[in-house]
Amino acid sequence: MTRSLTILGATGSVGSQALDLVARNPDRWRVEALTANTDVAGLAAAARACGARFAAVADASKGDALRQALAGTGIATGAGPAAVIEAGARDAEIVVTAIVGAAGLEPTMAAVRRGAQLGIANKETLVCAGPVVTAAARAHGATLLPVDSEHNAIFQVFPHDDPAQVERIILTASGGPFRTRSREAMRGASVADACKHPTWSMGAKISIDSATLMNKGLELIEAAQLFPVPVERLDVIVHPQSVIHSMVEYIDGSVLAQLGSPDMRIPIAYAMGWPERIATPAARLNLAEVANLSFEAPDLERFPCLKLAWDAMRAGGSAPCILNAANEIAVAAFIAGQAGFLDIDAIVAETLAMVPHAPMASLEDVLAVDAAARAAARGLVVKRAA
Ligand code: NDP
Repeated sequence: MTRSLTILGATGSVGSQALDLVARNPDRWRVEALTANTDVAGLAAAARACGARFAAVADASKGDALRQALAGTGIATGAGPAAVIEAGARDAEIVVTAIVGAAGLEPTMAAVRRGAQLGIANKETLVCAGPVVTAAARAHGATLLPVDSEHNAIFQVFPHDDPAQVERIILTASGGPFRTRSREAMRGASVADACKHPTWSMGAKISIDSATLMNKGLELIEAAQLFPVPVERLDVIVHPQSVIHSMVEYIDGSVLAQLGSPDMRIPIAYAMGWPERIATPAARLNLAEVANLSFEAPDLERFPCLKLAWDAMRAGGSAPCILNAANEIAVAAFIAGQAGFLDIDAIVAETLAMVPHAPMASLEDVLAVDAAARAAARGLVVKRAA
């Protein structure tokens, strides 16, 4: 049976891997909509290749270029943030949310509000607005399926009928490219150094988040939103080989894990095919070749971003949203050469201390806190650079 599919963030690392699965299974999905931020050429090529009905670019100034690139194809186009929200709102059974950052929040909410099946890669949406998104999903009958490999692993071994059987959820972390570096040795790290992930190939923002371990912190908060277990039962272990994607420890002491080669097409296919499993071209796991699996506790002193996120998760309320917004600004400043690698955790910590906590009952509340935290973090970037 052919199912309709939309990919938000189709030109990125996750989006293009989702499109690879579409190309390999032409009868399984019909593509409704694809979106990008600025990459008109990539978006137009992808929309032509899969015969999408609608293509939207978030950058309003690129609307004409997109229209020209798709002239004569019959593919409708749109430009600006509202067009990306429209892509989420269009009638597709499955929506893969692969936009990076809180920019994915409103298009995701548009899909949630019409009860879609969502494959959620865009973790920042759940970090900044988890309670709002999950409440809307319950109210509208939307299904939230995690694409993040850790959460996808947990989803596969989680006792959905009886969460009280869970003693602990253990997220694995590769440790990133600076796993063995001192703080001093991280100080002069370049963007290229920070993006040299040891096991996964990903977009720039998540690669840098992996180098600071903020990515694991965001994933803790994401897990707290996706799985009904108390936050004290969430844990992190560093596992450099990235073979075990995460684990669930049960009250009897049994530990169930999901393993696989580090290829995002496995969790993406799981979410796009659910409840069926789909064949993927991912390399098969050869444990004899891997030979050794190792583990170590995360170092919260060398990687303060993980501690900041852990604390924000425990604090709840607006803290995760402030943390996420500050991190987005700090990482963007690092990429732009306006901040050093070690400025990232400092900016996040200072923003958390500065921005007053506020209610988070609605999407509007979330957007207001997000904007206040971004403004504060931008001010700190300027101050530190002066
Ligand atoms: P990329 O940077 O590779 O791609 C991001 C996508 O989002 C692109 O299509 C980009 O368009 C679009 N985009 C960026 N900014 C905006 C905006 N303001 N409005 C609308 N669209 C925008 O990111 P990844 O694919 O690496 O990551 C996507 C999400 O998935 C992130 O939340 C990440 O944490 C999560 N994730 C990624 C994994 C991976 O392996 N890459 C693994 C697990 C989770 P354009 O190309 O035009 O810039």
